[in-house]
Amino acid sequence: MNEPVLSLNGIEKSYNRGAPGEVTVLRSIDLEVQRGEVVALVAPSGAGKSTLLHIAGLLDVADRGQVVMAGQDMTDLSDNRRTAARRADVGFVYQFHHLLPEFTALENIVLPQLANGTPRAAAQDRAHSLLARVGIAPRAGHRPAALSGGEQQRVAFCRALANAPKLLLADEPTGNLDPGSSDQVFDALMELVRGTGMSAVIATHNMALAARMDRQVRLEAGQLLGV
Ligand code: ADP
Repeated sequence: MNEPVLSLNGIEKSYNRGAPGEVTVLRSIDLEVQRGEVVALVAPSGAGKSTLLHIAGLLDVADRGQVVMAGQDMTDLSDNRRTAARRADVGFVYQFHHLLPEFTALENIVLPQLANGTPRAAAQDRAHSLLARVGIAPRAGHRPAALSGGEQQRVAFCRALANAPKLLLADEPTGNLDPGSSDQVFDALMELVRGTGMSAVIATHNMALAARMDRQVRLEAGQLLGV
């Protein structure tokens, strides 16, 4: 099966539709992400990159167009089925880590697996091996407040991949870090993605980071352009 992991076909999205403050954000977005492909999404602030990632990740719905994930059309799913598909198929990473402060790094990666029905021992094994892949195995027992910003982001990457989703969506994943640690943390993300054969769409302003991905697309005036 060589179907794309993600297909967006003719996606359109406006806010405040039909009202005086209507803002058209996405005009006609087509994007295919193949298995194992890592796509850089480059967009100036306000161009609609979060809107696009949320629609691709089944957190929001488009006004028109189709979202197909691994061959399954997600467009007209009920809210419950869309939520289930999102939990199973999509991992998110944001600029801020959003880890649960009262839980350790390990537990933050174990909890989504327990919620998904994985037995605790298997969930812990997977969490340990993900932490080892991003180079912070010795930090497994630390709470987020005891970790550096770069370490917190690495844990967030592991959590996003905890349930082995088909697709990783990342919104400026190293945007909050200083330039020195940003490069290293980005290396860890790329190793994790490449090592697990994940497909990913990673939004970044940083052209040097974008150049390290398989393909770059630019969001401009509501449309996606190849770079
Ligand atoms: P980016 O992530 O590229 O900065 P966003 O997708 O967050 O852009 O927003 C794109 C545009 O849509 C912006 O002009 C923003 O002000 C507007 N927008 C985003 N969310 C809403 C909303 N819920 N209601 C109205 N306008 C919104």
